[in-house]
Amino acid sequence: MPDPLEVLRRVFGYEAFRGHQRAAIDAVIRGEDALVLMPTGAGKSLCYQVPALVRQGVAVVVSPLIALMQDQVAALVQNGVKAAALNSALDGRERARVERAMREGGLDLVYVSPERFAAPGFLDLLEQAPLALFAIDEAHCVSQWGHDFRPDYRQLAVLAERFPAVPRIALTATADEATRADILRELRLEKAERFVSGFDRPNIRYTVRPRRERVRQLLAFLAGRRGEAGIVYCMTRSRVDRVTEELNRAGVPALAYHAGLEAGERTARQARFVASDDGVMVATVAFGMGIDKPDVRFVAHLDLPKSLEAYYQETGRAGRDGLPAEAWMLYGPGDAAQLGRFIDGSEAAEEQKHVERGKLEALMRYAEAASCRRRILLGYFGDDCEPCGNCDICLDPPEMFDGTEAAQMALSAIYRTGQRFGGGHIIDVLRGRETERVLRLRHDRLPTFGVGKDRRVAEWRSILRQLTAAELVAAENLEGFTVLRLGPEARAVLRGERKVQLRQEKREARPTRQPKQPGTAPVSADREGFEALRALRRKLAAEQGVAPFMVFHDSVLHDMLNRRPSSLEEIAEVPGVGAAKLQRYGKAFLEALRALPPSAD
Ligand code: ADP
Ligand code: ZN
Repeated sequence: MPDPLEVLRRVFGYEAFRGHQRAAIDAVIRGEDALVLMPTGAGKSLCYQVPALVRQGVAVVVSPLIALMQDQVAALVQNGVKAAALNSALDGRERARVERAMREGGLDLVYVSPERFAAPGFLDLLEQAPLALFAIDEAHCVSQWGHDFRPDYRQLAVLAERFPAVPRIALTATADEATRADILRELRLEKAERFVSGFDRPNIRYTVRPRRERVRQLLAFLAGRRGEAGIVYCMTRSRVDRVTEELNRAGVPALAYHAGLEAGERTARQARFVASDDGVMVATVAFGMGIDKPDVRFVAHLDLPKSLEAYYQETGRAGRDGLPAEAWMLYGPGDAAQLGRFIDGSEAAEEQKHVERGKLEALMRYAEAASCRRRILLGYFGDDCEPCGNCDICLDPPEMFDGTEAAQMALSAIYRTGQRFGGGHIIDVLRGRETERVLRLRHDRLPTFGVGKDRRVAEWRSILRQLTAAELVAAENLEGFTVLRLGPEARAVLRGERKVQLRQEKREARPTRQPKQPGTAPVSADREGFEALRALRRKLAAEQGVAPFMVFHDSVLHDMLNRRPSSLEEIAEVPGVGAAKLQRYGKAFLEALRALPPSAD
């Protein structure tokens, strides 16, 4: 049997295994079942691809989306691996060819969709083929608990009975306790060894900005990121269309994607995005599941996501290649109330609504954070970390002030007006505005009238949001209106028994500083060199009809620029250059590197 490390180096061009990879690989090679739980980008694929090449026979990989399968197969073929997909997109002849290769042991990996297991004759085909292992990718699809439930995954339970001697490995990046338990039970993996990694994605920088004007702020953000690929999420289809149009008008080539588009058009746009190395995709959350694009450099949210889980998953599509990437979000005062209204107005059972409200509160705590955002995000998944140094709060700590008095004013205004009004009216009272409603209700006679006129409306809005996030104020929805009431701890503040620290609202977003990011692969400062190698990569990719990242990842290009290899042997030492790619592309890149001016340092 070949040695796993040798396979890693020769085929994939990497020096060493990461994290739990080696342990999971060894378990599968020994013939044991495994459950692998790693964040996106940690390298789950190698956990079954390496055993597939070490063990005799063909590895059967269950993957939920045909597009994803084809990308993975193409990437493996680039590395000289014998891989194929077996799905409904094949015609009869191609299918017969793949099936024959499976029986004859002429394939290392075959990717199949879960539906295939219900097709007549498929299990018989598997019995005739020498099997190395079963890999069940995106295994959370088996759970009704998660948001990607695929009933067809349930059929995979049959593998345990029909093929007891073939090791099975299930993999996912989604894993709260309930989902994990579902996977183990539904897939009969009770005896599987478990490999669980932390959730942190250190190369992703998290930033939240108060929303003023979506498109203007987005354009400012994009200005420093020309030529980078990214995803922009919006809450509604109409907003997706509008933002796309405005980006294109401003000279940023952008594609729109949402469920309102015809299926063929969606597939085509997704393929164009994956194949580009600088495309911007503006989308609803309908986009992204199964996108296997390593060089997404940013994920921007123009509206609040649905929950922190959703946010983690959506932002997780950035920086899978380990290079610095950004998760950037705009947050407006109305967002939480709007999501609250969705929850209240839904048909769900009261118990479910309670869960949803809890998730919304967690999301608000993240958006209103006064301390490290990564810590809040990881804390939500039960992980802990030190202040990260790579989120907007760590990089530019907000100024805090003793907000006890301001909080007392706001709470008192809420209380004295009878806990029946939204933020707008409360702020009018605080700032002493004689509006029609204020006068009609005689709120101008309250002792709190005008006590807060020194603060701007934006400041009061920020204070009310922060008090809500701290649960000193409870925002409730009554027939479509948000009503502010006192939260359980409010009385202690009003009585002066509890102090309140508040974050100073910044007047304008400062330009983001870009210090070197910790824990990420080195990026070359040679912009021109990078563009030259990128152009070559684009040309080679177009010749073969594959996406540029399948030729080499960005990290490989950066590494080449930093190392300046001058021979094929030196190119072979660059991580990510395996034997097949060395032979195919080594010379072309060597020549391109020689043609560059000598590096500055
Ligand atoms: P996941 O499926 O967990 O999201 P992938 O399997 O797509 O992650 O791997 C993410 C990236 O990390 C890929 O570009 C992969 O080639 C790279 N990678 C995985 N394992 C290693 C390793 N041991 N050394 C270097 N790069 C690796
Ligand atoms: Zn931080």
